[in-house]
Amino acid sequence: MKKQLLLFLLMLCTVIQVQAQLDYFFPNEKFDSQIPNPEAFLGYEIGEWHTRYDRLVAYFEALAENSEMAELQIVGHTNQRRPLVVLVISKKDNIQNLEEVRLTHLQLVDLQQNLPDVSAMPAIINLAYSVHGNEPSGGEAAILTAYWLLASQSEMAQEIRENAVVMIDPAINPDGRDRHTNWANMHKGFPPIADPLDREHNEIWPSGRVNHYWFDLNRDWMPLAQLELQSKIAWYHTWYPNVVGDFHEMGTNSTYFFEPTKPFGSENPVVPRKNYEDINSKFATYFVKALDNIGSLYWTKEVFDNSYPGYGSTYPDIQGGLGLVFEQGSSRGHIQSSQRGDITFPFTIRNQLEISLATMEAGVKEREYMHRYLREFFETAVSEARADRVKAYVFGDEYDDSRNRLFLKLLLDHKIKVFENNRDLTAEGKSFKKGKSWVVPTSQPQYRMVRSMFEKVTEFADSVFYDASSWTMALAYGMPYAGQTAFQSGNELHELPAQDLHFPEVGKYVAYLVDWSDYFAPKFLHHIQTAGLHAEVTALPFTSATEDGSKDFPAGSLIIPIGFQQHDEATVRQLLKEAAATSGQHVYATTTGFSLKGIDLGSNNISAVRTPKVLMLIGQGTSQYEAGEIWHLLDTKVGMPITKMDLSLFNRVNLYDYNTLILPSGFYNILNNSQINHLKDWLNRGGTIISLRSASQWLQSQEIVKEEYLSLELISEPAFLPFASRRDFEGAKAIGGSIYLTYLDNTHPLGYGYRSKEIPVYRNSSIFFKPSKNKYQTPVRYTENPLLGGYISDANLEKVKQSASVLVSPVGQGRVIHFIDNPNFRGTWFGTNKLFLNAIFFGDKM
Ligand SMILES: [Zn+2]
Repeated sequence: MKKQLLLFLLMLCTVIQVQAQLDYFFPNEKFDSQIPNPEAFLGYEIGEWHTRYDRLVAYFEALAENSEMAELQIVGHTNQRRPLVVLVISKKDNIQNLEEVRLTHLQLVDLQQNLPDVSAMPAIINLAYSVHGNEPSGGEAAILTAYWLLASQSEMAQEIRENAVVMIDPAINPDGRDRHTNWANMHKGFPPIADPLDREHNEIWPSGRVNHYWFDLNRDWMPLAQLELQSKIAWYHTWYPNVVGDFHEMGTNSTYFFEPTKPFGSENPVVPRKNYEDINSKFATYFVKALDNIGSLYWTKEVFDNSYPGYGSTYPDIQGGLGLVFEQGSSRGHIQSSQRGDITFPFTIRNQLEISLATMEAGVKEREYMHRYLREFFETAVSEARADRVKAYVFGDEYDDSRNRLFLKLLLDHKIKVFENNRDLTAEGKSFKKGKSWVVPTSQPQYRMVRSMFEKVTEFADSVFYDASSWTMALAYGMPYAGQTAFQSGNELHELPAQDLHFPEVGKYVAYLVDWSDYFAPKFLHHIQTAGLHAEVTALPFTSATEDGSKDFPAGSLIIPIGFQQHDEATVRQLLKEAAATSGQHVYATTTGFSLKGIDLGSNNISAVRTPKVLMLIGQGTSQYEAGEIWHLLDTKVGMPITKMDLSLFNRVNLYDYNTLILPSGFYNILNNSQINHLKDWLNRGGTIISLRSASQWLQSQEIVKEEYLSLELISEPAFLPFASRRDFEGAKAIGGSIYLTYLDNTHPLGYGYRSKEIPVYRNSSIFFKPSKNKYQTPVRYTENPLLGGYISDANLEKVKQSASVLVSPVGQGRVIHFIDNPNFRGTWFGTNKLFLNAIFFGDKM
């Protein structure tokens, strides 16, 4: 490495700087001078600075303007309005007839069509960089790869242009990438500082890894919670690439990683073995050659996980392509010391470049094989489905149109065929109503995605997980569903069903009524509270004579009494109508406060809902993911502003300006005694704290709450074990992420809006709290046989069975609501979001 740096510095001194640095990346290469050279265009050498995203896009625009072999497509926009671009490169003829090329390629995945002549078809290769924004070598390598492919006169470049359509995403996460780009550039020293402790190498919170909402986009290929992946997947299904390269960085002391990943343990069970055994090995030979050629070291078959369909290198494996994860040891900054000497940014870029070229080479050489495999993938999907005992999944929640629609959208976005259920039926103890439920047949080309959405897997080849070991989306959505041994259905669903919302005719009413069961009911409530309407909630069910006949309203239903509003009746009606339309809610009205059954509308069991004023503590030491999930939930699903205050500002806050304080997982030891006293005082006088996971441990350590941990050592461990076994042994005890069934007390304000007394929850921690000693204050606890999906050790499973998932600690006039599991995980746990929102809206009633 030292040698390379010397060479690099020497090059800086030469007069023909630009060409010299390009020589480092492309020794002995001849380029077409009509194509803009990136270093001349940008005004610096690649690796000298981190390239801002707008400059990168500008360069790609220049390439597309100056070459008939390139086209720049905008496939979406990020939250911060950066364009998501794909630079398409191929021979002129293909670029001019791109739609024809695409339609011919799509014949491969359409089993109704004959297999086209694959020998005449170009490989579709997608190189996707910097999904983690602070892994910047990929984005810079994208610049060089695009330049090389368009300008190089080499035989290899010509062969690739001739026989491939290469699609380059320079950055899947531009918002995060620019966060890191500015960080690295603004701290660059002259000369650069390699000391890992320098500020350049240590980002502040939140890091550039995550997007605008602090989400890890390399977990979002299946959930599609974020704009970037919604756009990417929509684009993906217009092309079905044969090969997808997913370029990352890892720790500075590491070398380079490429697939194959660890056999079986880190592989996805629905992916054909051929992908792992034949294709991965074929491609690996190209990567070996590329890195051996420049003397870069690498490793394979260890650590990295390839099982969760939300990864950018796994999703393509479930779509008939080959997804490839690449990991480069990071210089994180312009130069950083490592165990092997100083790692320079250009060095990391060069490895990514070499692997990009090797991926294209392999894609072209294996092109016919990969086309046939793509076809075979969908053919075997259908034949495997025929052998599956389950012929269809029926699903739907008769009380929650919005959650049904969200789930339907997810299925349709992944091109899963969905049909209307045309009969009322009961299966596995659940009832499914005609018009409120749907059917997904297993026998369809997306059979493997169907399995990923619905199957519960509890048997594993390995016990060490890098991440989640369960991702059953139907459970995350809290969707009632059942497997069927026959497929019977109505019409196929091609788009989301139209909404037919009920709203009362003009009349003289005592109150308007809204059921809380719908996913977007909190959005409705927030909307009317912001508009200044007074709303109440019922703690007990009642049946009302509405303008639409007798209706049941369970606990949690909202009452908007006309007699207690600041606005006149017509304005109230108008505001309710607006709120109902924006949140998709049915609104009913009644002319009497006297109920047909249950409590009347003036009952003491109906109480005013106070307007939440929410403060969330964030910053160094807290979980950016959890905080981001909460922010994203409130922004996009409720429309509620939330103050996100850095922990370091705690000395400035007057908590009495708020009624709800959210503590995401984290370390809060930065708070001093007087700050903690302020917190305790506010809590005692009626404040509500919502704390997640390790934040509850901190509250416990400060004796702000006095709950009990569960400590059971049921299985004694051996006293001595081989040193080399430590990772596997300890790894098997971690709870990487799995799904459990819990009992829900839906008479508790935390359970408002739930009709079921059992719900699935997601757990990825080893924190075990005992249920509350107060017998009314454990609204969510595990069932006796809780494991629904994922890996857990026997000892941990015993603990789970005896512990609480959500418990409430009353403290003086206030209370702490502990979420020991994450109800908002990855923006996909639509089934448990309402528990969290209930804590925000009804916290003072617990
Ligand atoms: Zn990464």
